[in-house]
Amino acid sequence: MVCVGTAATKPNTSMAMAERAICIGCGRDMPVTTTGLRAHKDQFGSRCAQQPRRAHIALPWTAPPLAQNDRQHWRAKAESFARAKSEARWAIRAAHVDPMERAIVTLHYRVPDRRVRDADGPAPTLKAVLDALVAEAVIPADDWQHVPRISIQMHPPQPSMPPALWITLAALPTQSRPARGGSSHSKDTP
Ligand SMILES: [Zn+2]
Repeated sequence: MVCVGTAATKPNTSMAMAERAICIGCGRDMPVTTTGLRAHKDQFGSRCAQQPRRAHIALPWTAPPLAQNDRQHWRAKAESFARAKSEARWAIRAAHVDPMERAIVTLHYRVPDRRVRDADGPAPTLKAVLDALVAEAVIPADDWQHVPRISIQMHPPQPSMPPALWITLAALPTQSRPARGGSSHSKDTP
């Protein structure tokens, strides 16, 4: 894992909610308890143990609307994708998330039961969600430079809770700018 540079985020009180976070000093997963942060800093260095800004967005589904094994005609598939993206956009808009220049995006799925499911089953849904995040200007683009890591996190069923999907974003510091003219997108960040 390559260090992503100096930190650019300010302390965020909502971080107290999270149990783990991505360290913006080194990109590793770390615990956010006081002792956990201190241990991480001792182990990995002085730039470490800084927590990124995070966002949590509830999605309006109890099952992934798009699945890996859908055997639909391409036209029906395109329509399903467009519908899922549109539904995700409404959910993202309702969450009022501040834009992030770079972020790690995770799609979470709490399954309804213990039936065997592939962890990559919701991958097409994640793709629609990424498109929706770009369309709602939460992230400028979903290429690897703006979203260097995506993942799907499956959660076991909870007797008292319905199945659900949600996404989390962890902001990463803006990469050092390439030489002038070397940027692949024209938008200048102040
Ligand atoms: Zn670190």
